[in-house]
Amino acid sequence: MFLLGHTCWSYIFSKVTGRRVKVGLPAYTVLLAGVLPDFDIYFKPLILHHTYTHSLLILLPICAVLVIRFRASGLAFSAGMLSHLVADSIVGTVPPLYPLSDLQLGVSLGLPSLADTALEVGALGLVLILAFMNGDYKLVTESQRESIFLAIPLVSIVTLTLLFAGDLSIPLATIAFSRRALTLITVGHAVLIGILGLGVSQGVKAITSDDRPQTKRLEQPV
Ligand SMILES: [Zn+2]
Repeated sequence: MFLLGHTCWSYIFSKVTGRRVKVGLPAYTVLLAGVLPDFDIYFKPLILHHTYTHSLLILLPICAVLVIRFRASGLAFSAGMLSHLVADSIVGTVPPLYPLSDLQLGVSLGLPSLADTALEVGALGLVLILAFMNGDYKLVTESQRESIFLAIPLVSIVTLTLLFAGDLSIPLATIAFSRRALTLITVGHAVLIGILGLGVSQGVKAITSDDRPQTKRLEQPV
């Protein structure tokens, strides 16, 4: 699955899990959780893409540590991270037992495929509805400091996409607009990046306009 689907499904899995265990993780963490397994792209050729970070043998112990250390927050974050493996195994396969075994498990609906497009664009739609219901949309519509953290998933999505395409010598523009299914996904990525970018600009605005009151607050006697 592409990063559009990974960020969006992670948001959905983490937020729904968080609701059940009564914890509300910030939007940037739940968007980032689902992208983390693809961070192996940063470490190429040291770590091969789709190997260690897509293995349950590696991810489950990490999730266990997160749950023990951070309890409900760790559980909600882990749900987002594991959604990556679920998504990848629907459109392709994952190696759950790597490095012990090269066994690949998955439904392999195809990438790109109509099913993948529906899953990625559908997830974006669900995220927009959820964000409207839980108030996360205010990170984008209102000027507030926390919005600056949306830069973390934003930079991850952009750099990973460029690195991945660069590695495979993929002419991004040609691929992006070559098939109807991919065009929709490209538009979806553009929408997500646009929303995150707008959020970051709200954060910058809040921080720069907050500068003066912040100094004043520090000068006040404790
Ligand atoms: Zn992946």
